[in-house]
Amino acid sequence: MAVFRDPVQAAIRALEAELEGGKRADLPPAIDRFASLLLQREERQRVLEKAQPERELLGAMPAAAGLVAADGRIRASNIALDRLAPGGRAIGLTLLEITRNGELAEAARRALEGSPKQLEIPLSQRTWIADLVPMLRGEVLALLRDVSDARRAEATRRDFVANASHELRTPVSAISGAAETLLSGVMEDPGQARTFVEMIARNAERLGRLTNDLLDLSRIESRQWPVKLEPVQVEEVARRAVEIVSHPARRKRIELLVEVPTNTVVLADARALEQVLVNLLDNAVKYTPEGGRARVTAASREDRVEVAVSDTGPGIERHHLPRLFERFYRVDHGRSRDSGGTGLGLAIVKHLVQIQSGDISVDTGSEGTTFRVRLPRPAIAGR
Ligand code: ADP
Repeated sequence: MAVFRDPVQAAIRALEAELEGGKRADLPPAIDRFASLLLQREERQRVLEKAQPERELLGAMPAAAGLVAADGRIRASNIALDRLAPGGRAIGLTLLEITRNGELAEAARRALEGSPKQLEIPLSQRTWIADLVPMLRGEVLALLRDVSDARRAEATRRDFVANASHELRTPVSAISGAAETLLSGVMEDPGQARTFVEMIARNAERLGRLTNDLLDLSRIESRQWPVKLEPVQVEEVARRAVEIVSHPARRKRIELLVEVPTNTVVLADARALEQVLVNLLDNAVKYTPEGGRARVTAASREDRVEVAVSDTGPGIERHHLPRLFERFYRVDHGRSRDSGGTGLGLAIVKHLVQIQSGDISVDTGSEGTTFRVRLPRPAIAGR
């Protein structure tokens, strides 16, 4: 009998002998393990090949998707579902093991019995819609769509509608209250009548401002504001904006300065940039005490130009800054309303800056507030 030094050769020979009708081959443990690993690899390959067409189909779905076999385990999955699974692989796991959501697991069990189900579940700090659809072979197609962004947008829209209605109701109530008072006999008393007519005029004006701001905002957001980006002379636009706020500034003895180097040119929409500066200057005038100062300056920074509006007002406390550009956010409700604010000025500014491919930041302290708008420089003009 041949003696093999190589244990692999020896094992092969012993197995061949067994299969030819000899006694059972006694294989060393390492060879045994090697054989079982090869078998496992083949088995996995077989499963994968079998699931391949389904995997391709699942891969084309715009959701995390998997096929749940009759034993409740995932038989085929796409990458999105694999990502949700612990260990990054969904095949072989149950939906409970993947999501740890008992309601979903129960719905999957019912779906395997033939009842389709849709439910909303929290997972990885996001909100998902799960669809469980019974399939022909007694399996279930599980689809998980991340709807967090849509839910957040819905909530923002709901808040906005509630806030807008509330803002509109205030002047409307004041107008109808004043009109009723006049009609109830005050009209006969000229001294008193004037007070109520003035109240109507003031609130009608406020209503007008609010509706204009709301319309502007919705036009900008729905991209109906025609943006025409072209080289724009900052100094010219700044002077026009200053002119527009000059009347209230004079009333409060606030000095308005334009300190923009001649020939500072940005790539912008002239009308949008003017509106941005008007809103920022309007705030500077509104919130700066009498006798103060507001300035428009500009400086080139690499491929951008920074246009800044600064004032000598009271500044804004730091904790307000993250929400300052939100619609209807105000630091001091009373003061904003008294000075004719709608709470939409900075939201409009932010959107207008964004549609011009710019960005905005704010610096504030006890010395006053500075809003900085950075806009691109035209490629050739103005250098
Ligand atoms: P509003 O119509 O109330 O002025 P904005 O959106 O323009 O609304 O501004 C939001 C809030 O930011 C204001 O209510 C005000 O409290 C604060 N704010 C804006 N600009 C200034 C400024 N230059 N100085 C101090 N506070 C400001």
